[in-house]
Amino acid sequence: MQMKPVLQTAPALYGSILDTIGNTPIVRINRLAPEGVELYVKVEAFNPGGSVKDRFALAAIEAAEASGALKPGQTVVEATSGNTGIGLALVCAAKGYPLVVTMAESFSVERRKLMRFLGAKVVLTPAAQKGTGMLAKAEELAREHGWFLARQFENEANADMHSRTTAREIVDAFGGQGPDYWVTGFGTGGTLKGVSRVLRAECPKTRIVVAEPDNVPLIQSGIAQERDADGRPASHPMFRPHLMQGWSPDFIAKLAEDAVSAGAIDAFQPVAGNAALQAARDLAAQEGIFCGISAGATFAAALEVAKTAPKGARIVAMLPDTGERYMSTVLFDGIEEEMSDDEIALSRSTPGARFDNAASAPVASAAAPTCKPEAAEMVDEIVAQHPVVMFVLEWCEFSWSVRKLFAAAGVPYHAVELDAAAMQTDNLGGDLRAALGVRTGVPTIPQIFVGGTHVGGAKETFDGFKDGSMAKRLNAIGLSFDDSKTANPYGFLPGWMHPR
Ligand code: PMP
Repeated sequence: MQMKPVLQTAPALYGSILDTIGNTPIVRINRLAPEGVELYVKVEAFNPGGSVKDRFALAAIEAAEASGALKPGQTVVEATSGNTGIGLALVCAAKGYPLVVTMAESFSVERRKLMRFLGAKVVLTPAAQKGTGMLAKAEELAREHGWFLARQFENEANADMHSRTTAREIVDAFGGQGPDYWVTGFGTGGTLKGVSRVLRAECPKTRIVVAEPDNVPLIQSGIAQERDADGRPASHPMFRPHLMQGWSPDFIAKLAEDAVSAGAIDAFQPVAGNAALQAARDLAAQEGIFCGISAGATFAAALEVAKTAPKGARIVAMLPDTGERYMSTVLFDGIEEEMSDDEIALSRSTPGARFDNAASAPVASAAAPTCKPEAAEMVDEIVAQHPVVMFVLEWCEFSWSVRKLFAAAGVPYHAVELDAAAMQTDNLGGDLRAALGVRTGVPTIPQIFVGGTHVGGAKETFDGFKDGSMAKRLNAIGLSFDDSKTANPYGFLPGWMHPR
C-alpha cells in the first residue's frame, strides 16, 4: 500500500501540548511480520504522556468543562492503573486543575513518580483490594471532598474520543476501508467500544480480535459482571493477577460490557505473560519500537492472528504505551546496569578508557600546591564561623551524597559551592579550592569540617557516621542527630558509585 512520505508536512507550531494528543503513527512491521501478511502497529507512545490514555484524559476534562460538571480550579480525582493518571496529570497541569489519583500499590513505581513529577498527588491503595479497591477510594474521596471524578470505566467521553480520533485515524490510514483485522486488549474498554463501533459502521469486513491474559478470560468466560444497586462492580470470579498492567482489571468495565453487547468482538486471543514480554522485547530489539507489556501482549496476539489470516491480510495491533514506565518491572529482567562478560571483553579489546588498566587513569600533578594568602584567610574564617562546613561542587555526586547524609541526620551545615556561577568572578572559587588543598593536603572535593577541625572527604565522612566518630565530633559541639537515618551512609551515593 501507499506509505506516507518520511517527512510529512506538519503544523510547525502547536498552541498547547494538548494539541499534540492523538494522530499517532501506524507503523509497518518489517522484520517480525510473517510472510504474506501486512502487519502494522499503532504506536500510542507518541502521545505526549506516552500512552493511549492521554486521549481519554483530554476528552474527560473537556466534556466536563463543557457540561459544567467541572468548575474552574476544582480538584479532579480518578482511579487508575497509571496511564490515565499520567494523562490527566498533564492535562490538569496544562489547564490548571489540581489532581488526586488513587492507584493500587502493585502498579509500577515509574507511574507514581511520573504523576507526582507532573504535579499530581498519588494516593496508594492496598494491592489486596485490587482495582475495585482503588475505584472505591476515588469515589469516597470525590464524595467527601466535593471533587470531580473522571470515571474512566463508564464515562462515555472515553469511548466517544476513540470514535472521533483513534477510529478515524485507523479507517483513514487504510483509505476508508479499514484493515482486515484490528487487534486490541481492554482495560476500561474505551478503546474497544469507541473504535469498534466506527469499524462496524464503516468497515464491515474488518474483524475485531480482543486479547486477554490467558489466565484471566473475563469476557471470554461469558460469566456476567455482577454489580450492586448503584452499578458498582464486584470482583469478577475469573480474575487472577496478571502481567499486563492496564488490561483486564478485576471487573468488566461498563464500556467493555457495552462493546460485548453490541457484538463488537469477532474472536478472542488469549496471551501468555511470557509471550507478551518476548513480543515487547522483540519489537524493541528487532523493529526499534519501544513499548510496554500490554503492547507486547497485543502484538503477540496479532502474530497469532497472522498465522491463520488469508494471504495479503492487513492487521493492525494497538500498542497502548511506552516501555519507559516498566524499567522496574519484569520486562527489564536481565537488562543490567553493570557490564556483562561480553561487554567487559569488548572494553578490554582495545587499550583506552578501561577499568582494569591503571595507565588510563588521569595522571596526577606532582607539583606542590600553592595558594593566595587572602584565599587561605577566607577558608580559615569560614571554617571558624560555622559548626559544620562543607566545601562542595554544585552538581558533583559525592558532594550531593554528603549533603543528603547530613540532611537525613538533621544536622544543619554551611555549604560553600566552589564552582557556583557566583564564585567564578575573579576566580574566587578556584582560589578557595587551592587554599583548601593547601590547608587539608588533599586535592579532592568535597571536604568537610566539624567544629573547626578537618574531617576529610566523602569517604572519611561516611566512615565517621558508621564508626561513631562523627557522633562524637558533633556531640562535642553540642549537636546531636538521628542515627536511624544514617546507618548506611554509602547508600546515599548513586548505585554506580558504590565501592566495588
Ligand atoms: N494498556 C495499558 C498500558 C493501559 O494503561 C490501558 C488503559 N487502562 C489499556 C491498555 C487499555 O485501554 P482502554 O482503557 O482504552 O481499554
